Amino acid sequence: MSLTKEDVLRIAKEKDVRFVRLQFTDIFGVLKNVAITVEQLEKALDGELMFDGSSIEGFVRIEESDMYLKPDPNTFVTFPWRPQEGSVARLICDVYTPDGEPFEGCPRCTLKRVLQEASELGYTVNVGPEAEFFLFLVDENGKPTTITHDKASYFDLTPVDLGENARRDMVIALQDMGFEVEASHHEVGPGQHEIDFKYDDALATADKIVTFKFVVRTIAQRHGLHATFMPKPLYGIAGSGMHTHLSLFANGTNVFYDPNSKYQLSETAMYFIGGLLKHARGYTAITNPTVNSYKRLVSGFEAPVYIAWSEKNRSPLVRIPARRGTGTRVEVRNPDPSCNPYLALAVLIKAGLDGVKNRIVPPPPIDKNIYALTPEERKEMQIASLPVDLNEALEELSRNPVIRAALGDHIYNRFTEAKRIEWDNYRMQVHQWELDQYLTKF
Ligand code: ADP
Ligand code: MG
Ligand code: MG
Ligand code: MG
Ligand code: MG
Repeated sequence: MSLTKEDVLRIAKEKDVRFVRLQFTDIFGVLKNVAITVEQLEKALDGELMFDGSSIEGFVRIEESDMYLKPDPNTFVTFPWRPQEGSVARLICDVYTPDGEPFEGCPRCTLKRVLQEASELGYTVNVGPEAEFFLFLVDENGKPTTITHDKASYFDLTPVDLGENARRDMVIALQDMGFEVEASHHEVGPGQHEIDFKYDDALATADKIVTFKFVVRTIAQRHGLHATFMPKPLYGIAGSGMHTHLSLFANGTNVFYDPNSKYQLSETAMYFIGGLLKHARGYTAITNPTVNSYKRLVSGFEAPVYIAWSEKNRSPLVRIPARRGTGTRVEVRNPDPSCNPYLALAVLIKAGLDGVKNRIVPPPPIDKNIYALTPEERKEMQIASLPVDLNEALEELSRNPVIRAALGDHIYNRFTEAKRIEWDNYRMQVHQWELDQYLTKF
């Protein structure tokens, strides 16, 4: 689907759109909105609307605050839960400087830059995410709790699944907004859900992830529930991941598929895997950007801890789903839905492309349960671990020129500055666990 400015103006009239939200995300993946009336839509589509960038965290200093929003007409869609008459629509925007250049702090522009690199090598990148989330009850003051009255588990059916009504409405809203929903099911945790939608080119998928999170939260709220994409809200219970499936296409054909080679994976696919593994310690700060992200990356919950790949096993970082032909793809299992999807896809694709360009051969696949290997066995097999916390991940990012180049200096500096403060704040806290352990012991 490719919409022009004229298409958007016509559809807005047909659908009696009254308000349009111009959306973009900050460096941390938080969705920002500038609401305009439909009378300003044409001006907005011409990229003539300005906003104050200094009001957005991590964007710019006050003295360089004027920014322009350039909407992508393809992202025009109305909100199905709003009234049919006087409806509300949105457009996702790139952020530009007054000189007409893409702003270096714009995550969407950053992803586009990496996709340009792929395109120069002759590839389009397809991405399909599996974003998980929890639905929690709110208390009498409307504040989110971590309580679910839900006793259901993976694929369980009603009546135990209290979130099912909410999830069904989420699927309907997403479909109304043009998503092709492939699957939606209860996940392993109580109150935990997953909705999978069909892969698309990387930029469209990043836009969809942002939209997805916003739709899920909105519909949950309308059901009196709180949806959270926090990676590990409950100790001892599986966290929420965002497995990311990637493949490269050239001229409409999947170049990861080669029926005549080992594993039926092409050389390109193997090198892509090589790059993903080589740079994993460097990009984890971006795919798993919160203190809490690392509480999910522990053994025993199907979350990856070790840097390896497999065709069979679900414990390593990269799994190759059984499907071949057009569906041949790699699944990267560490990302979680607290990431900025534009930046996360930018670094994953950059890592894979670096493997392709430099012909990085991955180690042999590991078809054992890596959690069950002893540290000695892992050492012998040269299986490294992902960073254990945000601090280590930031150190690794600082040492990885390839991943830093994908982000650009502006985003790298602002991101790490803010994340170091986040880490220090956390590090200085005295947690309940420490009191339980030490208060009476010493
Ligand atoms: P899992 O087995 O891990 O649950 P799924 O089979 O549910 O994974 O697929 C997850 C995602 O993979 C979906 O979004 C799907 O559209 C996507 N996908 C399928 N084929 C491709 C491909 N060639 N490239 C990228 N993603 C793909
Ligand atoms: Mg799934
Ligand atoms: Mg699935
Ligand atoms: Mg899942
Ligand atoms: Mg998966």
